[in-house]
Amino acid sequence: MTETLQAAERLTCESLVIDVHYDLGMDLCDRYDRGESRIWPEYESSFSAGGLKGLVSSLFLHSYFLPEMALRKALDQIACLLKEQEAFKERVSICRSASELEEAAAEGRTGILLSFEGVEPLGNDLSLLRVFYELGVRGVGLAWSRRNEAADGCHFAPKREGRKGGLTPFGVQVVEEAERLGMWIDVSHLNDEGFWDVAAIARGPLIASHSNCRALVPGMMRNLTDDQIVAIAKTGGVIGMNSCSAFVKPDHDRRRLGPEDLADHVDHIAKLVGSQHVCLGFDFCNGFKDYLTMGCSVPTYDVVAGHREIPAFAAVLLQRGYSEDEVRGILGGNAMRVFKKVLA
Ligand SMILES: [Zn+2]
Repeated sequence: MTETLQAAERLTCESLVIDVHYDLGMDLCDRYDRGESRIWPEYESSFSAGGLKGLVSSLFLHSYFLPEMALRKALDQIACLLKEQEAFKERVSICRSASELEEAAAEGRTGILLSFEGVEPLGNDLSLLRVFYELGVRGVGLAWSRRNEAADGCHFAPKREGRKGGLTPFGVQVVEEAERLGMWIDVSHLNDEGFWDVAAIARGPLIASHSNCRALVPGMMRNLTDDQIVAIAKTGGVIGMNSCSAFVKPDHDRRRLGPEDLADHVDHIAKLVGSQHVCLGFDFCNGFKDYLTMGCSVPTYDVVAGHREIPAFAAVLLQRGYSEDEVRGILGGNAMRVFKKVLA
């Protein structure tokens, strides 16, 4: 394994490694609210140990900000990212296109793309989507795991609720306008009704930024069914592998899971549609746990223990027989294919 790990380290070092779901905006903003600033260097050691060159920062909003503060907190998160970019110009860049991401990586800066994780900041005003596009937002996750003006989100665990729906008329307009502007649609967190609405409306390619396979975790509605995986693949899209233990194995609370357990989800998707539809969307939460409760019924943890463990995850894939080209695709090449197609 040592040799494989060395090969994996070299591969992550050379490749454009991208994590398509990280709650950076939320973390920065929460920390700024607590009086911190100039935080970027604290992320960097793990990023560079893992070979991470780019990430998609979600604009995630705590439920206690809704509805009144949704717009304000989304803008605050972008403001915090801009402050960090200004303070560390040589090291981090907010990117608006695939070529800007490549350019940042080539110059040794971490490239950040922005994506909604729930369109609450828009309220019911479609014209604000254009405003956020101008601010650099390029991805649209319609809902987090709750209901909003656009769609119903799916829950992590069964929940008492009223009747569920798919997209609202506003949600349909958001999908159409987002694609017109050159933004990708992220189906993670949508319920099944909403997923199939998006699949019928969107031209794609679709991204499921942080969802695994429901076939391997029965009843985990945040994961994708085989039919949904096939539908995403048909658009040429990608699925980001989520490191949250509850999404990886049903027995995650009885034994400690590791990167090999997440690799089972890569295997499942690869067998179904090919590894070219897999990417990284770890949704790392360990670092946020002091103030974040995600609504799972049992405690969760990251099965890949942070970005610094990306080479260990890549080593498992090499060990299982994926070629270096396939692993390079999973690490970031597949996501770049989608960004190049969607982003103007
Ligand atoms: Zn999420």
